[in-house]
Order: sequence, then structure tokens, then C-alpha cells
Amino acid sequence: MSLALDLTHQGVRLLSAPKESWSVALSAPDDMVLIHADGAIMDLHGARYRWILPFEKSRAACCRQDGRIGWLDHQGWFHTESETEEWRLRQELCRIAKLIYERHYNASIDGNISVRLPDGTVLITPSGAHNAFIEPDQLVVTDMQGQTLRGSGHASSEMVLHLEIYAQRPDIQAVIHAHAPNAIAASIAGMDLMETVATMAPIPTAAYARPSSPESAERMRPFLQGYDWGVLPRHGVVTMGTTPWFAFLRLEGLEHYAEILLKAHATGRPITAIEPRQRQALLDFWNLGPQGEHKR
Ligand SMILES: [Zn+2]
Repeated sequence: MSLALDLTHQGVRLLSAPKESWSVALSAPDDMVLIHADGAIMDLHGARYRWILPFEKSRAACCRQDGRIGWLDHQGWFHTESETEEWRLRQELCRIAKLIYERHYNASIDGNISVRLPDGTVLITPSGAHNAFIEPDQLVVTDMQGQTLRGSGHASSEMVLHLEIYAQRPDIQAVIHAHAPNAIAASIAGMDLMETVATMAPIPTAAYARPSSPESAERMRPFLQGYDWGVLPRHGVVTMGTTPWFAFLRLEGLEHYAEILLKAHATGRPITAIEPRQRQALLDFWNLGPQGEHKR
């Protein structure tokens, strides 16, 4: 039986072609609804709407019967325009998560990414999800103690590490944890990324901690004031920045540097650090302290 026959039977009149799996429809009397391609009617959680527009980028613009204008997400929840910044950050996290996967910095359900919201709460990827395929409305909002405020899933298992960074670094707005394979391989091989053998700034490696345990935050704590990145040996990396994009750039730079070092070591020829004078010139150029740390 076709969808059209089903809808006719229910007295629902389609007003738009399906977009992002949903069609806008008129349901008597004078009620706008959204119909899924499989025939299901979206649960609008008791709210009634004067009009709804087709979905664009996971949002369906709408006007409620009480006159409030806003938009619906794929779960049928109403949002006001004041939530636009949070929505933009939700989309940005999903975009960066896809990029991380496409660059092979994560596989399967590994890794997590978060951003600090304007009200001081934290938006983070859910536990157990493949981050490259999550939708903006699947992200979880927690307070700085890790209590879930919004979202149906559980916050990432590495949330303690993210919260530690936000607590220590008011300047940081986004954190990425990834299982970047070259960085992990370098840590297994015992390579010290603090040594300056190329153009990258020194990268600290923390003591070992079991993945998804609060120990990761403890092990990284000594480095968080001085560095925007670090290696969790035999596990992954953590990078941070003023935006999700800048945290991603640090991840890409770290992983690229680890790959270069692995290639240099694979030649079997001796590897030497650059001369102290040249190293100092690099640190001065980056405006970093003697250990490659931020000057504060
Ligand atoms: Zn991990």
C-alpha cells in the first residue's frame, strides 16, 4: 500500500514533498504535522502549529498556535531563535566529528568532542555512538559537574577529561579526544614528541591511564596549563582550542607530526634534534617558554 493511500485514509493532506525524510502535512482540523516517509506522524509533544516549513539542515521553521516562531528538530521539539548559537555549535561539532573520521583519526565509536556553550554548560558527543554519523540533536548537554541536563543519551565516557580542561582553562572553548593512530604508534614505540626535530612545537606525553577512566584527567593535569595538546600513551590524544575548528587543527598538526617522526624512524637512520640555538629561535618565533609551554 502506498504512503499516499495511507494518508488519504487518515484524512491527512500532504503540503510538501519529503525533505530529510519528513513531509509537511495538514491534519484536520487546521493542524500542521510532519509525516515520515514510513507513514509515521511526528510526535510534537502536545504543541500545535499554525505553519511548519520543510526541513533544511535538520531544522523545520515553524509558528506555534500561540504565535511563537522558532523551529523543530527531528525529534519534534520546539526551539526558539535564541537557541541559534547552541544549534550552530551542535552542527559544528558534527561537522568536525565527520572530518576526524574521514581523516582516519578515529575508528568505530572511538573518541569524543565537546564545546563550551554560552551559558557555561558543555555540549558533548554521546557515549557508545559513532561520532561521524550522529545528528546535532543527539549531542548531550551537561553541567560542569557532569550531570546530564539535556539529551537522551549518556555523555561520553571521557567527559571527566573534558571537564578538567574546561575547569582549568577558561580560555578554552572546545576539546577533542581522538585515537589518532600515528600518535598512538609513536607512544607505543616510546618516541618523545617533546623533542624538537622538525617545525612542530613540543607535545607532552602523559603517564599511562586506562581509557575511559578518570585517571586520564589526572595524568593530563600537570600539562594543561602549559599546553593545548597532549598524548595519552597507548590510547590517544587530546587537543583543545578556542573553537572546535582550532582544536581540530591541533589534532591534525599533532597527528601529522607523529606520522613524520614514524617515517623518519622507519628509515633506520639516526634521528637528531635540531641545534639548541635553532630550537630557541623556533620557540621565540612561537612565543613559547623554554619547554614549549605557553607564557602566562
Ligand atoms: Zn579514548
